[in-house]
Amino acid sequence: MDHKFRIDFNESNVLESVTYTLVSEFNLIPNVLRADIDGDGSGIMLLNVIGEDDVVAKGMERIQKMGFIVKELSGHIYHDEDRCWNCGGCVSLCPTKSLYHDKESMKVKLNIKTCIACNACINSCAVKAIQLEL
Ligand code: SF4
Ligand code: SF4
Repeated sequence: MDHKFRIDFNESNVLESVTYTLVSEFNLIPNVLRADIDGDGSGIMLLNVIGEDDVVAKGMERIQKMGFIVKELSGHIYHDEDRCWNCGGCVSLCPTKSLYHDKESMKVKLNIKTCIACNACINSCAVKAIQLEL
């Protein structure tokens, strides 16, 4: 199973320390989907972690004990195409390119298979065409 997490951090070596710990101590497969680091070294990382559910849980508990804020991403994003104005405001915010301009229809579409429910797009939509269904 793969699980997706948001990790908030305030030190610049987070990428190495988190992925190294998950691989070396838990034999998990972490994949960094996106990392935004501010000038002071703080930021957020979106991480996909592949492994047995209980091992992933232990691994992320360990990451939390290292001082990072860990939140599992869940739920399903719903894109209401009738309500959508196709303004494209949400497209550039999507770390997995799940929101995209469809060249044939010239409309903004959502690929639900790649969406990690990170919620980055939700507040960007002025007409509330994107919603999180829990
Ligand atoms: S921000 Fe809202 S209206 Fe604009 S393309 Fe995205 S879903 Fe559609
Ligand atoms: S929640 Fe929105 S921004 Fe995040 S991956 Fe899904 S479509 Fe992209």
